[in-house]
Amino acid sequence: MDKNNFKQNTKCIHSFSKNNDFPEGVLTPIYTSTSYRYSSESDSVYYPRYFNTPNHKIVSEKIAALEEGEEAIVLSSGLAAITTTFFAYLKPGDHAVVQRTIYGGTSYFISNELKEFGIEISYISSTDPEDFRKKVTKNTKLIYIETPSNPLLQVIDIEAIAKIAKEKNIISIIDNTFATPINQTPITMGIDIVIHSGTKYLNGHSDVNCGVVVSRKEVINKILNYAKSHGGTLDSHALYLLDRGLRTLGLRVKQQNESALKLAKYLEKHPFINKVFYPGLESNEGHKTAKKQMKGFGGMLSFEVNCTYEEINKALNGVKLFTPAASLGGVESLICLPADTSHKRISKEEREKAGIKDTLVRVSVGIEDIEDLIEDLENAFKLIKSVSLV
Ligand SMILES: *Cc1c(COP(=O)(O)O)cnc(C)c1O
Repeated sequence: MDKNNFKQNTKCIHSFSKNNDFPEGVLTPIYTSTSYRYSSESDSVYYPRYFNTPNHKIVSEKIAALEEGEEAIVLSSGLAAITTTFFAYLKPGDHAVVQRTIYGGTSYFISNELKEFGIEISYISSTDPEDFRKKVTKNTKLIYIETPSNPLLQVIDIEAIAKIAKEKNIISIIDNTFATPINQTPITMGIDIVIHSGTKYLNGHSDVNCGVVVSRKEVINKILNYAKSHGGTLDSHALYLLDRGLRTLGLRVKQQNESALKLAKYLEKHPFINKVFYPGLESNEGHKTAKKQMKGFGGMLSFEVNCTYEEINKALNGVKLFTPAASLGGVESLICLPADTSHKRISKEEREKAGIKDTLVRVSVGIEDIEDLIEDLENAFKLIKSVSLV
């Protein structure tokens, strides 16, 4: 058929060059197609929900390489990555050993929804790997950790957890969102599965909601099978943005490591602050382990202020550069109370068990100049000064 002879309606649909005869660009185009030609000679059927479109391939290869895993899947949220992985490995009657104080959405899913499927959970409040080992029984299928954790920045010895999982022949999973592969690569320490909320540092610009699972080929194939049924697909536009964000991951995280350490040191000396949670501080109980397994200590920290809930909210409303907002890992600095944001869905009772006070403040340090950020907080603290120095 001569395409110059197509009628108008056919032209509307088919008159474009099907062979890309431009020189190869430095970027991969955004493949908006949800349908792809198949062939009876090939097993492959391409479809976004099968996680095999060109934009998915590019980003997942990049992230697998960053995490030193064989393969990766990119999903529509961090929670999609987490729930899909749990459902791939847990059946009714199974048991999992889980760190107690982790991201609120993950906690909610584990303690509410997994329970409905007859899955038993042991929560570990300490950071001692031996306490995780003690809870492993013969129906335990996995150990789940988050280090540094959200929101208390607890540090767990990754190598020790991986070793226990190998000895007991169970799967070890880590949520590496806070650290990023720039600061720590758990697969090189023996962990089986690395998960990310890519919404945070990997994308880094607060404009894409996505998640990632990285592991060996055989593990990814198993999870992929569930992912295809659960349907947590990310579309090509978002995959492209994620790829774009990833290009500056190293630079961003380097700056955020540096600024967060300076901010933590400033807060530690501040008369209103009771306690600062940051693994880069020598006074932090996880510092030694963090130093062993991390290249930088990350851009997240939290702290407890010597004042009431009303007072801390007054200070939060007074910030000018920081935004009082949930989420984290973007180029702009954010500040929030986890009890009112990331950990709002879990009950007050569970939060208390997890050590998350209503007045705990969490900070995501952006890439602004640290002097400006410190001045902004200093001014905000002045709003509560009269009360807290009584
Ligand atoms: C935000 C977050 C998640 C959930 O990710 P979404 O992309 O919001 O679904 C999981 N783990 C950690 C540590 C997080 O901070």
